[in-house]
Amino acid sequence: MSGSPLPLVFDAPARGKAPKHWLDLTPDERRETAEKLGLPRYRADQISRHVFDRLEDDATHFTDLPAAIREDLAEQIFPSLLERVTTRTADKGATVKTLWKLHDGSLLESVLMRYPNRSTLCISSQAGCGMACPFCATGQGGLKRNLSQAEITIQALAANQMLTRGEVPGTTGRLNNIVFMGMGEPLANYRAVLGSIRTLLAPSPDGFGMSARGITVSTVGLVPQIRKLTEEELPLTLAVSLHAPDDELRDEIVPVNNRWKVAEVVDAAWDYARTTKRRVSIEYAMMRDINDQVSRAHLLADILKRRGDWGWVHVNLIPLNPTPGSKWTASRKEDERAFVATLERRGVPVTLRDTRGSEIDGACGQLAATVEAS
Ligand code: SF4
Repeated sequence: MSGSPLPLVFDAPARGKAPKHWLDLTPDERRETAEKLGLPRYRADQISRHVFDRLEDDATHFTDLPAAIREDLAEQIFPSLLERVTTRTADKGATVKTLWKLHDGSLLESVLMRYPNRSTLCISSQAGCGMACPFCATGQGGLKRNLSQAEITIQALAANQMLTRGEVPGTTGRLNNIVFMGMGEPLANYRAVLGSIRTLLAPSPDGFGMSARGITVSTVGLVPQIRKLTEEELPLTLAVSLHAPDDELRDEIVPVNNRWKVAEVVDAAWDYARTTKRRVSIEYAMMRDINDQVSRAHLLADILKRRGDWGWVHVNLIPLNPTPGSKWTASRKEDERAFVATLERRGVPVTLRDTRGSEIDGACGQLAATVEAS
């Protein structure tokens, strides 16, 4: 093959779509692609080992491949998907938020958080979000587009590169956990998110070999997609952003509630827990004088208790990261304490989450919104 360019294997991307990348493909598709390129099938595994084992995505450095094809390979199947715009750190370097620019200028964020014995990446699944939650910076800008499978997965690759290069002080290992809690509603981009998860889980040479228990998918409550995810029978953690226990308030602060009501969402979450044997996390952003009353803590306990004992669920209270210029703000400390105490008295497993990165526009979409505005 020396000197001859490889045949073209991917069509030009449709308007608004990301260019196709190795990380968009299933293991079988990677092998087929290698064949179409005129390479023996084993080359596909060789290429994948560079990506998933050695965390390399510049094909010009894949020195075990013939030199004559590396440039072409880099151009064709490893197009540049993410360009780093800015990185901000907080918590003495233990929280690193990166703002990325995509090929079409869309911005997205991922946040890497290092803890004493693990590291967690919060990744984005869409550029923007169409769910229009009024308290959320991302929701205000609307949905720009779904991310491709590769654009999602490459955030994990980039974070692993940062960790193994020692760019995040205090750790050198690989990512242990990934939470789909960045920009976007992951289950509204179901195919790409599931494709990306399968790549995160697949053992070498097909993927990063992560544990399903280390991956959390959050949703604002898209009931049919929760049910579909249940059928996948992957022991992922499901996090449901409930934010209100009653339809009247939830219709307002989580507009998708006008489509699927609290009871339907909690039912679907319960079925998920029963099928996968994984405890569901109920996310509840504490908003001052909106949803933080003791009466609502009781209501929350009522609706969760009705679905069996407490083994199936855990409530995660999140102090709201206020968006500049928004009327939505964090609860008073005394209201937070009363809410927690009420849930504890009722026997509900509950934790009040720490607010990593609040000084770096840590809430989803805030850094992108800040940069876009400037
Ligand atoms: S809170 Fe989540 S679902 Fe709601 S608009 Fe923001 S990113 Fe979308």
